[in-house]
Amino acid sequence: MAEFSQQEYLRYNRHIQLPGVGIDGQLKLKSARVLIVGCGGLGAPVSLYLAAAGLGNITLIDGDSVELSNLQRQITFSEKDIGKNKALCTQQRLQQLNSDIQVDAIDQALSVDNAEALIQSADLVLDCTDNFPARYLINDLCKINDTPWIYASVYQQSGQCALFTPQESCFRCLFPSPPKGELDCNAAGVLGVLPGLLGTLQATEALKYLADIPCSSVNTLLLVETSDMHFQKITLQKDSNCILCSDDNPVFNPSNNDYKLHCSAAEKSISSISAADFEQWSQRDDIILIDIREQHERDAFNLGGEHIPADQLLSSIADKVENKTALLYCQSGVRSQKACELLLGKNIKALSVAGGITEIIRQ
Ligand SMILES: [Zn+2]
Repeated sequence: MAEFSQQEYLRYNRHIQLPGVGIDGQLKLKSARVLIVGCGGLGAPVSLYLAAAGLGNITLIDGDSVELSNLQRQITFSEKDIGKNKALCTQQRLQQLNSDIQVDAIDQALSVDNAEALIQSADLVLDCTDNFPARYLINDLCKINDTPWIYASVYQQSGQCALFTPQESCFRCLFPSPPKGELDCNAAGVLGVLPGLLGTLQATEALKYLADIPCSSVNTLLLVETSDMHFQKITLQKDSNCILCSDDNPVFNPSNNDYKLHCSAAEKSISSISAADFEQWSQRDDIILIDIREQHERDAFNLGGEHIPADQLLSSIADKVENKTALLYCQSGVRSQKACELLLGKNIKALSVAGGITEIIRQ
Protein backbone atom coordinates (compact mmCIF):
# COMPACT_ATOMS: atom_id res chain seq x y z
CA MET A 1 0.00 0.00 0.00
CA ALA A 2 3.05 2.19 -0.29
CA GLU A 3 1.50 3.83 -3.36
CA PHE A 4 -1.22 5.57 -1.35
CA SER A 5 -0.92 7.99 1.51
CA GLN A 6 -3.21 7.42 4.46
CA GLN A 7 -5.26 10.42 3.30
CA GLU A 8 -5.71 8.88 -0.13
CA TYR A 9 -6.64 5.55 1.38
CA LEU A 10 -9.39 7.24 3.40
CA ARG A 11 -10.52 9.41 0.50
CA TYR A 12 -10.94 6.51 -1.95
CA ASN A 13 -12.14 3.97 0.59
CA ARG A 14 -15.53 3.47 -1.09
CA HIS A 15 -13.76 2.59 -4.33
CA ILE A 16 -11.28 0.32 -2.61
CA GLN A 17 -14.18 -1.56 -0.98
CA LEU A 18 -15.93 -1.97 -4.32
CA PRO A 19 -15.55 -5.38 -6.00
CA GLY A 20 -13.95 -4.83 -9.39
CA VAL A 21 -12.04 -1.69 -8.33
CA GLY A 22 -10.10 -2.36 -5.13
CA ILE A 23 -6.54 -1.16 -4.59
CA ASP A 24 -5.47 -2.21 -8.08
CA GLY A 25 -8.24 -0.31 -9.80
CA GLN A 26 -7.69 2.79 -7.72
CA LEU A 27 -3.97 2.73 -8.54
CA LYS A 28 -4.82 2.49 -12.22
CA LEU A 29 -6.99 5.61 -11.84
CA LYS A 30 -4.17 7.38 -10.03
CA SER A 31 -1.69 6.75 -12.83
CA ALA A 32 -4.15 7.44 -15.68
CA ARG A 33 -4.01 10.51 -17.95
CA VAL A 34 -7.17 11.92 -19.48
CA LEU A 35 -7.82 14.80 -21.84
CA ILE A 36 -11.17 16.54 -21.35
CA VAL A 37 -12.07 18.57 -24.44
CA GLY A 38 -14.63 21.20 -23.49
CA CYS A 39 -15.45 22.46 -19.99
CA GLY A 40 -19.13 23.24 -20.52
CA GLY A 41 -22.25 21.26 -19.68
CA LEU A 42 -20.72 17.82 -20.31
CA GLY A 43 -17.26 18.77 -19.11
CA ALA A 44 -18.62 19.89 -15.73
CA PRO A 45 -19.79 16.49 -14.40
CA VAL A 46 -17.03 14.64 -16.26
CA SER A 47 -14.27 16.72 -14.71
CA LEU A 48 -15.83 16.88 -11.23
CA TYR A 49 -16.43 13.13 -11.00
CA LEU A 50 -13.05 12.16 -12.43
CA ALA A 51 -11.25 14.54 -10.09
CA ALA A 52 -13.28 13.30 -7.10
CA ALA A 53 -12.53 9.69 -8.09
CA GLY A 54 -8.78 10.29 -7.96
CA LEU A 55 -8.00 10.36 -11.65
CA GLY A 56 -4.34 11.27 -11.36
CA ASN A 57 -3.66 13.46 -14.39
CA ILE A 58 -6.36 15.60 -15.98
CA THR A 59 -5.82 18.04 -18.86
CA LEU A 60 -8.64 20.47 -19.62
CA ILE A 61 -8.93 22.42 -22.85
CA ASP A 62 -11.50 25.09 -23.66
CA GLY A 63 -11.15 28.50 -25.32
CA ASP A 64 -14.54 29.86 -24.23
CA SER A 65 -15.37 32.19 -21.39
CA VAL A 66 -18.14 31.68 -18.84
CA GLU A 67 -21.40 33.46 -19.71
CA LEU A 68 -24.48 34.03 -17.57
CA SER A 69 -26.53 31.67 -19.79
CA ASN A 70 -24.04 28.84 -19.03
CA LEU A 71 -24.91 28.77 -15.32
CA GLN A 72 -28.22 27.00 -16.07
CA ARG A 73 -26.26 23.75 -16.59
CA GLN A 74 -22.48 24.22 -16.24
CA ILE A 75 -22.26 23.47 -12.55
CA THR A 76 -18.52 23.94 -12.10
CA PHE A 77 -19.00 27.71 -12.42
CA SER A 78 -20.45 30.38 -10.18
CA GLU A 79 -21.49 33.97 -10.86
CA LYS A 80 -18.03 35.31 -10.03
CA ASP A 81 -16.58 33.27 -12.92
CA ILE A 82 -18.51 35.14 -15.64
CA GLY A 83 -16.08 36.44 -18.23
CA LYS A 84 -13.27 34.10 -17.19
CA ASN A 85 -11.88 31.21 -19.24
CA LYS A 86 -13.73 27.95 -18.66
CA ALA A 87 -10.68 25.66 -18.57
CA LEU A 88 -8.90 27.86 -16.02
CA CYS A 89 -12.02 28.16 -13.82
CA THR A 90 -12.54 24.39 -13.97
CA GLN A 91 -8.90 23.76 -13.08
CA GLN A 92 -9.28 25.91 -9.98
CA ARG A 93 -12.50 24.12 -8.99
CA LEU A 94 -10.96 20.65 -9.43
CA GLN A 95 -7.90 21.53 -7.37
CA GLN A 96 -10.20 22.74 -4.57
CA LEU A 97 -11.97 19.38 -4.76
CA ASN A 98 -8.81 17.24 -4.87
CA SER A 99 -5.33 18.66 -4.29
CA ASP A 100 -3.70 15.21 -4.68
CA ILE A 101 -4.18 15.10 -8.45
CA GLN A 102 -2.48 16.98 -11.29
CA VAL A 103 -4.80 19.25 -13.27
CA ASP A 104 -3.55 21.21 -16.29
CA ALA A 105 -5.63 23.73 -18.21
CA ILE A 106 -5.28 25.12 -21.74
CA ASP A 107 -7.30 28.25 -22.50
CA GLN A 108 -7.60 27.54 -26.22
CA ALA A 109 -10.01 25.66 -28.46
CA LEU A 110 -8.90 22.22 -29.65
CA SER A 111 -7.49 22.65 -33.16
CA VAL A 112 -5.39 20.85 -35.76
CA ASP A 113 -2.39 22.69 -34.32
CA ASN A 114 -2.65 21.48 -30.73
CA ALA A 115 -4.79 18.32 -30.83
CA GLU A 116 -2.33 15.62 -31.83
CA ALA A 117 0.22 16.17 -29.06
CA LEU A 118 -2.55 16.35 -26.46
CA ILE A 119 -4.25 13.19 -27.70
CA GLN A 120 -0.94 11.29 -27.90
CA SER A 121 -0.22 11.95 -24.25
CA ALA A 122 -3.67 10.81 -23.04
CA ASP A 123 -4.83 7.31 -22.11
CA LEU A 124 -8.43 8.35 -22.79
CA VAL A 125 -10.07 11.40 -24.37
CA LEU A 126 -13.45 12.73 -23.28
CA ASP A 127 -15.33 14.61 -25.94
CA CYS A 128 -17.32 17.21 -24.03
CA THR A 129 -17.63 19.57 -27.00
CA ASP A 130 -20.79 20.73 -28.70
CA ASN A 131 -19.79 20.52 -32.35
CA PHE A 132 -19.02 18.09 -35.12
CA PRO A 133 -15.69 19.57 -36.30
CA ALA A 134 -14.09 18.96 -32.89
CA ARG A 135 -15.54 15.44 -32.82
CA TYR A 136 -14.11 14.54 -36.23
CA LEU A 137 -10.75 15.91 -35.15
CA ILE A 138 -10.85 13.86 -31.93
CA ASN A 139 -12.10 10.76 -33.75
CA ASP A 140 -9.47 10.86 -36.49
CA LEU A 141 -6.53 11.56 -34.21
CA CYS A 142 -7.66 8.99 -31.64
CA LYS A 143 -7.99 6.35 -34.34
CA ILE A 144 -4.55 7.09 -35.74
CA ASN A 145 -2.87 7.28 -32.32
CA ASP A 146 -4.65 4.22 -30.86
CA THR A 147 -6.36 6.28 -28.18
CA PRO A 148 -9.88 5.43 -26.96
CA TRP A 149 -12.39 8.26 -26.55
CA ILE A 150 -15.85 8.74 -25.14
CA TYR A 151 -18.38 10.71 -27.12
CA ALA A 152 -21.50 12.37 -25.77
CA SER A 153 -23.88 14.95 -27.14
CA VAL A 154 -27.11 16.55 -26.00
CA TYR A 155 -29.97 18.14 -27.88
CA GLN A 156 -33.07 19.56 -26.20
CA GLN A 157 -34.29 16.48 -24.25
CA SER A 158 -32.19 13.82 -26.03
CA GLY A 159 -28.65 12.62 -25.58
CA GLN A 160 -26.16 10.12 -26.98
CA CYS A 161 -23.08 8.46 -25.53
CA ALA A 162 -20.53 5.95 -26.89
CA LEU A 163 -17.04 4.69 -26.13
CA PHE A 164 -14.93 4.40 -29.28
CA THR A 165 -11.84 2.20 -29.11
CA PRO A 166 -9.24 2.08 -31.92
CA GLN A 167 -10.05 -1.55 -32.79
CA GLU A 168 -13.81 -1.07 -33.22
CA SER A 169 -16.06 1.15 -35.33
CA CYS A 170 -15.46 4.90 -35.22
CA PHE A 171 -17.51 8.09 -35.15
CA ARG A 172 -17.24 8.39 -38.93
CA CYS A 173 -18.82 4.94 -39.31
CA LEU A 174 -21.80 6.41 -37.45
CA PHE A 175 -21.76 9.90 -39.01
CA PRO A 176 -19.73 9.85 -42.27
CA SER A 177 -20.34 13.59 -42.74
CA PRO A 178 -21.69 16.40 -40.53
CA PRO A 179 -25.49 16.48 -40.60
CA LYS A 180 -26.76 19.56 -42.42
CA GLY A 181 -28.83 21.91 -40.33
CA GLU A 182 -27.67 20.41 -37.03
CA LEU A 183 -27.86 23.00 -34.30
CA ASP A 184 -25.87 22.95 -31.10
CA CYS A 185 -27.59 23.40 -27.76
CA ASN A 186 -26.79 27.11 -27.80
CA ALA A 187 -29.14 27.43 -30.74
CA ALA A 188 -31.72 24.73 -29.98
CA GLY A 189 -32.08 24.88 -26.21
CA VAL A 190 -31.36 22.09 -23.76
CA LEU A 191 -32.88 20.91 -20.49
CA GLY A 192 -30.34 22.04 -17.88
CA VAL A 193 -29.86 18.65 -16.26
CA LEU A 194 -29.39 16.72 -19.55
CA PRO A 195 -25.66 17.41 -20.04
CA GLY A 196 -25.30 16.49 -16.37
CA LEU A 197 -26.86 13.11 -17.07
CA LEU A 198 -24.84 12.41 -20.23
CA GLY A 199 -21.61 13.73 -18.71
CA THR A 200 -22.14 11.46 -15.72
CA LEU A 201 -22.56 8.52 -18.11
CA GLN A 202 -19.29 9.51 -19.79
CA ALA A 203 -17.53 9.69 -16.42
CA THR A 204 -18.97 6.29 -15.47
CA GLU A 205 -17.60 4.67 -18.62
CA ALA A 206 -14.27 6.48 -18.22
CA LEU A 207 -13.78 5.16 -14.68
CA LYS A 208 -14.77 1.64 -15.71
CA TYR A 209 -12.48 1.70 -18.73
CA LEU A 210 -9.47 3.06 -16.83
CA ALA A 211 -9.96 0.80 -13.79
CA ASP A 212 -10.32 -2.21 -16.11
CA ILE A 213 -13.94 -2.95 -15.29
CA PRO A 214 -15.78 -4.33 -18.35
CA CYS A 215 -17.45 -1.48 -20.28
CA SER A 216 -20.91 -1.94 -21.66
CA SER A 217 -20.70 0.92 -24.11
CA VAL A 218 -17.82 -0.28 -26.34
CA ASN A 219 -19.13 -0.40 -29.88
CA THR A 220 -22.53 0.62 -28.58
CA LEU A 221 -24.42 3.86 -28.97
CA LEU A 222 -26.57 4.69 -25.96
CA LEU A 223 -29.58 6.84 -26.83
CA VAL A 224 -31.25 8.71 -23.99
CA GLU A 225 -34.64 10.42 -24.31
CA THR A 226 -35.67 12.20 -21.13
CA SER A 227 -39.17 13.21 -22.30
CA ASP A 228 -40.32 9.62 -21.67
CA MET A 229 -37.17 8.34 -19.89
CA HIS A 230 -36.42 5.92 -22.69
CA PHE A 231 -32.89 4.47 -22.84
CA GLN A 232 -31.84 2.41 -25.85
CA LYS A 233 -28.60 0.69 -26.84
CA ILE A 234 -27.66 0.27 -30.49
CA THR A 235 -24.76 -1.97 -31.56
CA LEU A 236 -22.45 -0.13 -33.94
CA GLN A 237 -20.97 -1.77 -37.01
CA LYS A 238 -17.76 -0.89 -38.78
CA ASP A 239 -18.66 0.78 -42.07
CA SER A 240 -16.69 -0.76 -44.93
CA ASN A 241 -16.80 2.65 -46.65
CA CYS A 242 -15.55 4.60 -43.65
CA ILE A 243 -12.51 6.66 -44.68
CA LEU A 244 -10.72 5.71 -41.46
CA CYS A 245 -11.84 2.14 -40.81
CA SER A 246 -11.66 0.88 -44.40
CA ASP A 247 -8.06 1.97 -44.77
CA ASP A 248 -5.25 -0.22 -43.37
CA ASN A 249 -3.12 2.85 -42.71
CA PRO A 250 -5.37 5.80 -42.04
CA VAL A 251 -3.67 9.14 -42.54
CA PHE A 252 -4.53 12.28 -40.64
CA ASN A 253 -5.13 15.12 -43.03
CA PRO A 254 -5.02 18.47 -41.20
CA SER A 255 -6.52 20.28 -44.17
CA ASN A 256 -9.69 18.20 -43.98
CA ASN A 257 -12.61 20.62 -44.18
CA ASP A 258 -14.53 18.65 -41.56
CA TYR A 259 -12.37 20.23 -38.87
CA LYS A 260 -13.01 23.77 -40.01
CA LEU A 261 -16.76 24.22 -39.89
CA HIS A 262 -16.71 25.92 -36.55
CA CYS A 263 -20.43 25.69 -36.01
CA SER A 264 -23.02 24.36 -38.38
CA ALA A 265 -25.13 27.47 -37.81
CA ALA A 266 -22.38 29.40 -39.54
CA GLU A 267 -22.21 27.12 -42.56
CA LYS A 268 -23.08 28.73 -45.83
CA SER A 269 -25.92 26.26 -46.32
CA ILE A 270 -27.76 27.66 -43.32
CA SER A 271 -26.49 31.20 -43.25
CA SER A 272 -29.89 32.70 -42.47
CA ILE A 273 -32.45 32.53 -39.70
CA SER A 274 -36.18 33.06 -40.08
CA ALA A 275 -37.85 36.30 -39.05
CA ALA A 276 -39.89 34.28 -36.54
CA ASP A 277 -36.70 33.28 -34.73
CA PHE A 278 -35.26 36.81 -34.76
CA GLU A 279 -36.17 37.76 -31.21
CA GLN A 280 -34.68 34.59 -29.69
CA TRP A 281 -31.47 34.84 -31.72
CA SER A 282 -30.96 38.56 -31.18
CA GLN A 283 -30.93 38.08 -27.38
CA ARG A 284 -28.24 35.41 -27.33
CA ASP A 285 -24.94 36.22 -25.62
CA ASP A 286 -22.91 34.85 -28.53
CA ILE A 287 -24.62 37.05 -31.12
CA ILE A 288 -23.85 40.62 -32.13
CA LEU A 289 -26.77 42.23 -33.93
CA ILE A 290 -25.82 44.52 -36.83
CA ASP A 291 -28.01 46.78 -38.96
CA ILE A 292 -26.25 47.04 -42.34
CA ARG A 293 -28.59 49.58 -43.99
CA GLU A 294 -27.82 53.21 -44.81
CA GLN A 295 -27.99 55.94 -42.15
CA HIS A 296 -31.29 57.42 -43.40
CA GLU A 297 -32.97 54.01 -43.27
CA ARG A 298 -31.73 53.44 -39.74
CA ASP A 299 -32.91 56.90 -38.65
CA ALA A 300 -36.40 56.12 -39.92
CA PHE A 301 -36.73 52.81 -38.05
CA ASN A 302 -34.47 50.13 -36.63
CA LEU A 303 -34.41 46.98 -34.53
CA GLY A 304 -31.44 48.03 -32.40
CA GLY A 305 -27.97 46.53 -32.42
CA GLU A 306 -24.84 48.06 -33.92
CA HIS A 307 -24.99 50.08 -37.14
CA ILE A 308 -22.39 49.27 -39.80
CA PRO A 309 -23.47 50.15 -43.36
CA ALA A 310 -22.82 47.29 -45.81
CA ASP A 311 -19.99 49.10 -47.61
CA GLN A 312 -18.08 49.53 -44.34
CA LEU A 313 -18.76 46.05 -43.00
CA LEU A 314 -15.52 44.30 -43.89
CA SER A 315 -13.30 47.12 -42.68
CA SER A 316 -15.14 47.67 -39.37
CA ILE A 317 -16.45 44.33 -38.26
CA ALA A 318 -13.34 42.52 -37.02
CA ASP A 319 -13.07 44.72 -33.89
CA LYS A 320 -16.74 44.25 -33.09
CA VAL A 321 -17.41 40.53 -33.41
CA GLU A 322 -14.60 38.99 -31.32
CA ASN A 323 -15.79 35.38 -30.83
CA LYS A 324 -19.41 36.16 -31.56
CA THR A 325 -21.56 35.50 -34.60
CA ALA A 326 -22.72 38.58 -36.51
CA LEU A 327 -26.50 38.60 -37.01
CA LEU A 328 -27.06 40.93 -39.95
CA TYR A 329 -30.32 42.58 -40.93
CA CYS A 330 -31.46 44.92 -43.66
CA GLN A 331 -34.87 45.95 -44.98
CA SER A 332 -35.80 42.85 -47.02
CA GLY A 333 -33.03 40.31 -46.31
CA VAL A 334 -31.32 40.59 -49.70
CA ARG A 335 -28.44 42.88 -48.76
CA SER A 336 -27.89 41.11 -45.43
CA GLN A 337 -27.68 37.71 -47.16
CA LYS A 338 -25.02 39.03 -49.57
CA ALA A 339 -23.11 40.64 -46.71
CA CYS A 340 -23.38 37.41 -44.74
CA GLU A 341 -21.81 35.38 -47.55
CA LEU A 342 -19.03 37.95 -47.82
CA LEU A 343 -18.22 37.58 -44.12
CA LEU A 344 -18.42 33.78 -44.20
CA GLY A 345 -15.95 33.87 -47.09
CA LYS A 346 -13.57 35.70 -44.74
CA ASN A 347 -14.17 33.09 -42.00
CA ILE A 348 -16.22 35.51 -39.92
CA LYS A 349 -19.24 33.79 -38.40
CA ALA A 350 -22.39 35.44 -39.69
CA LEU A 351 -26.11 34.93 -40.12
CA SER A 352 -28.70 36.92 -42.05
CA VAL A 353 -32.32 37.54 -41.03
CA ALA A 354 -34.40 36.16 -43.92
CA GLY A 355 -36.94 38.71 -45.16
CA GLY A 356 -35.36 41.45 -43.05
CA ILE A 357 -37.29 44.11 -41.16
CA THR A 358 -40.22 43.81 -43.56
CA GLU A 359 -40.81 40.19 -42.66
CA ILE A 360 -40.29 40.75 -38.94
CA ILE A 361 -42.89 43.52 -38.91
CA ARG A 362 -45.29 41.47 -41.04
CA GLN A 363 -45.15 38.64 -38.53
ZN1 LIG B 1 -14.94 4.30 -39.03
